[in-house]
Amino acid sequence: MALRSTDILTQTPQGLYCPLGDFHIDPVRPVKRALITHGHSDHARSGHRAVLATRETLRIMDVRYGGDFAGATQEAPLGESIRIGDATVRFTPAGHVLGSAQIAIEAGGTRIVVSGDYKRDEDPTCLPYEVVPCDVFITEATFGLPVFRHPDARGEVRKLLDSTRLFPERTHIVGAYALGKAQRVMALLREEGFDGPIYLHGALERLTELYKSEGIPLGETPKVAASERAKLAGAIVLCPPSSIQDLWSRRFPDPVICFASGWMRVRARARQKGVELPLVVSDHSDWDDLCRTILETGAGEVWVTHGQEDALVHWCTTRGIAARPLHMLGYGDEGEADEASPAPARDAGGSAA
Ligand SMILES: [Zn+2]
Ligand SMILES: [Zn+2]
Repeated sequence: MALRSTDILTQTPQGLYCPLGDFHIDPVRPVKRALITHGHSDHARSGHRAVLATRETLRIMDVRYGGDFAGATQEAPLGESIRIGDATVRFTPAGHVLGSAQIAIEAGGTRIVVSGDYKRDEDPTCLPYEVVPCDVFITEATFGLPVFRHPDARGEVRKLLDSTRLFPERTHIVGAYALGKAQRVMALLREEGFDGPIYLHGALERLTELYKSEGIPLGETPKVAASERAKLAGAIVLCPPSSIQDLWSRRFPDPVICFASGWMRVRARARQKGVELPLVVSDHSDWDDLCRTILETGAGEVWVTHGQEDALVHWCTTRGIAARPLHMLGYGDEGEADEASPAPARDAGGSAA
């Protein structure tokens, strides 16, 4: 007899827990054994006794938290089944950031897929999302409202290049999350033919080096030296979102403040952050892709987490798919914290980067 989904995965204060294998997925507090979907700080935390994740995610955690981020680590090769207690798990690409994976848990003939964060748009910096057929699909809903329809990211990057041609005397400062978004913007700039240096705020340096060492061609990305800022007229400079509003960005010649985020679809947010050139580039699925993905998994049951849960739950219910919100604490902060990089951004904010 098939197990009930809640026998395989339950909600605990630490996060989603599989009693059959005695492990948590993306726990928000230190646990004995954690399976991690990807390196964003709300999913990947330090202090677990053991961590199972993709090789790239382990490397990202190492860069962010230092070599002792967990008692023990184990690499999860994509597509391989791994037995843990009475459950079998398998990691599959999620298309979100480098190393990001969905985790399928199987026991007693029932399969649950925890997708972590995911997107369906192509991204030159990570493997594309793969649909994993399942009985229960756990989806994020960061942009889970029909109003969210992301434009083509390439078109947004072209807007940035057009602006640099229009204002060759101004520095273009682009706020972008340190893990994933910054590197995707750089890769798209290269694919659109921009071959000049892309200057980096110090907070973006180490993760960008990691991406390069994984074979992603990002070209020349010098760190901005403090003394040099006044000379960077016409240059493109990337920094963490927290730096676009602070003094750091004002030292550049007549800066054009840009911000690459799915939230730039909301004009009030762009205005509130003083963004002159909003670039709608998201590493999360928009409404259409969330709905499409749910249907493609064939899941009869959907659990919805971090974001606008209610609209997606309603959408599922009207299609005869059982659905419920998870309302888990610790994920996202208005959908931004998970993409943001609290630790490195804070460090660099106070330095002379
Ligand atoms: Zn994420
Ligand atoms: Zn997230």
